[in-house]
Amino acid sequence: MPGENLRRFEGRTAVVTGAGSGLGKATAARLAAEGASVACVDLVVDAAAETAKEIGAAGGTAKAYRVDVSDPASVRDGVSAAAQDLGRPSVLVNCAGIGKFAHSHEMPFEDWSRIIGVNLTGTFLMAQAVLPHMLEGGGNIVNIASNAGLMGAPFSAAYCASKGGVVNLTRALADEYLRKNVRVNAVAPGMIDTPLTNKFEVPAGANPKAIAKLASPLGVSSPAEVAALVAFIASDEGRYMTGSIVSIDGGLTI
Ligand code: NAP
Repeated sequence: MPGENLRRFEGRTAVVTGAGSGLGKATAARLAAEGASVACVDLVVDAAAETAKEIGAAGGTAKAYRVDVSDPASVRDGVSAAAQDLGRPSVLVNCAGIGKFAHSHEMPFEDWSRIIGVNLTGTFLMAQAVLPHMLEGGGNIVNIASNAGLMGAPFSAAYCASKGGVVNLTRALADEYLRKNVRVNAVAPGMIDTPLTNKFEVPAGANPKAIAKLASPLGVSSPAEVAALVAFIASDEGRYMTGSIVSIDGGLTI
């Protein structure tokens, strides 16, 4: 497994949201391979449990928690259970996210609210729940933003708004906790090969060419490739990074 010769998270507890799938799953595996005890958080607890089982089979330590990141009570309960079971969280990676293409003039309010609620509010709620633990001995947060937080794209108003929000939420938290031994950074991926990307369908009547700018000539990235970047930022090797928005997007936002 990548990172198996690195032990940068030995003795640390990491909370990873969206750990049942895609980037969250790869990040949970990567941090565990490097010695972290990982709280695998997901709405779909069976998927998170499968990730935790795979980590255990590879010799790592992980436990699954059912959390809806958009629900403050669920977040509070999940984080305090994880801290009790695995120890003080000093790393949080916010990977849980959803998206959907839609014509903005037709988008149901519920879809707008859910995308903002999971991607933006969920990122804030998880940070809010984990920060008291980080203030007792340090830590760092890596938020998964997107190229969509740094540029416009059609049919993606809620997704772009949520990810643009994650970008500046990252900077705001980094500034607020700059002198408190807590770093906050974001990774902004382009196209990663995960189940999420397969869920995006161009809305009826739209010209598929309108989204051509979302494809890089370098193709797509893999979850493991992005997880390696997340691990670097979250490790002590990223000590001097805070408030950074790091693109890994095949040049989409050049
Ligand atoms: P994914 O494979 O769909 O994984 C996301 C996971 O988050 C899923 O298990 C999902 O469960 C879970 N989740 C959804 N809502 C949740 C909630 N309310 N509470 C807790 N967990 C929840 O997606 P991914 O591609 O790995 O995406 C990970 C992150 O990267 C997202 O923030 C995404 O916006 C971002 N990103 C992805 C790409 C890409 O190309 N894939 C590019 C840029 C940024 P369900 O399966 O039930 O939804």
